[in-house]
Amino acid sequence: MKVIETIAGIRQLRQQLTGLVGFVPTMGYLHDGHLSLVKHAKAENPSAVVSIFVNPTQFGPREDLASYPRDIPRDLSMLEQVKTDIVFMPQATEMYPPRYSTWVDLEKVTERLEGESRLGHFRGVATIVAKLFNIVQPTRAYFGQKDAQQCVVIKKMVADLNMNLEVVVLPTVREPDGLAMSSRNTYLKPDERQAALVLYRTLKLAQKLWSQGEKDAHRIRRAMIELIEQEPLAEVIDYVSIADAETLEELHEITPPALVSLAVKIGKPRLIDNIVLE
Ligand code: AMP
Repeated sequence: MKVIETIAGIRQLRQQLTGLVGFVPTMGYLHDGHLSLVKHAKAENPSAVVSIFVNPTQFGPREDLASYPRDIPRDLSMLEQVKTDIVFMPQATEMYPPRYSTWVDLEKVTERLEGESRLGHFRGVATIVAKLFNIVQPTRAYFGQKDAQQCVVIKKMVADLNMNLEVVVLPTVREPDGLAMSSRNTYLKPDERQAALVLYRTLKLAQKLWSQGEKDAHRIRRAMIELIEQEPLAEVIDYVSIADAETLEELHEITPPALVSLAVKIGKPRLIDNIVLE
C-alpha cells in the first residue's frame, strides 16, 4: 500500500496507472461503511485510491473540526487489511494555501436539510471533492447513501461541470441493531448510543406507514416526530423530511422515489440518517 502525502506525489503515481481508477474520499476514522466503498472500488476497478482528509472548509465555526475523531495508524491498518493500493493524505496547508479563493457553490439542492442547518457545509464539500477529483482524476468515485444530500450535490456538480467520471452511490452500512455507522458515533455515551436507535426506528415507521398505503407526507412526518419525542435524550429535532429524492423538494403527496431523512441531536452529537421509499 502506497501512502502519499503530496499533490505532486499522487499526480506522479496517477500517471503510471493505466485503466480505470476507483476513488473513495473520506475524512478518516474509518468504519465498515467506508470499507464497503473501498471494497467496491477495488472490485470494480484495477486501481483504487482512498483519500483521508478532514476538510476544514466544510465545518461551521461552531462545529466539531477540532474534536473530529482522528486515528491515522488505525485507518492505515484497516485499509491495508482490505488491500487498498493507494492512500492519499494531503496536508490542509497544501490543499488550502494562503490566499486560497476559489469555491464551488451549488444552488437549490444545497438550500435545505443539511445545507440549511449547516451554512456553508456544501460549499466546503463540493470544493474539496472537486479539488480531489482534479488531483486524483478517477474514473469512478464512490459515496455512501448515509449522506444522501451529499450524493445529490456531488452528482449535480459532476453533471453541471461536465466532470468526466461516474458517481457510484452505495447503501448505508448499519450496526446489527440498525444504527447507521458514522465516525461521529464515537461521541455517544452508552445511554445516548441506546437512544440513537430512535433514528432508524423512526425511518422504519415511515417505511411501514408508506407500505400500508399512506401517501400523505405530512401525516407520516407527524408520526415520525411523535415517535422521536418519546425519546428523552433526543434533545433537538433539526429536521424530519420527506422529499423528492432528486430535487430534494419537500413532498405533500408521496411519489417514489422519496427520500425520508432526519437530523436529531442525541445529547451533544448531531446524527443523520435516511431511507428511500421506492
Ligand atoms: P466521511 O468520512 O464521513 O466523510 O465519509 C466518507 C464516505 O463514506 C462518504 O461517501 C460517506 O457517505 C460514506 N459513509 C459514511 N458512513 C457510511 C455508512 N454507514 N454506510 C455507507 N457509507 C458511509
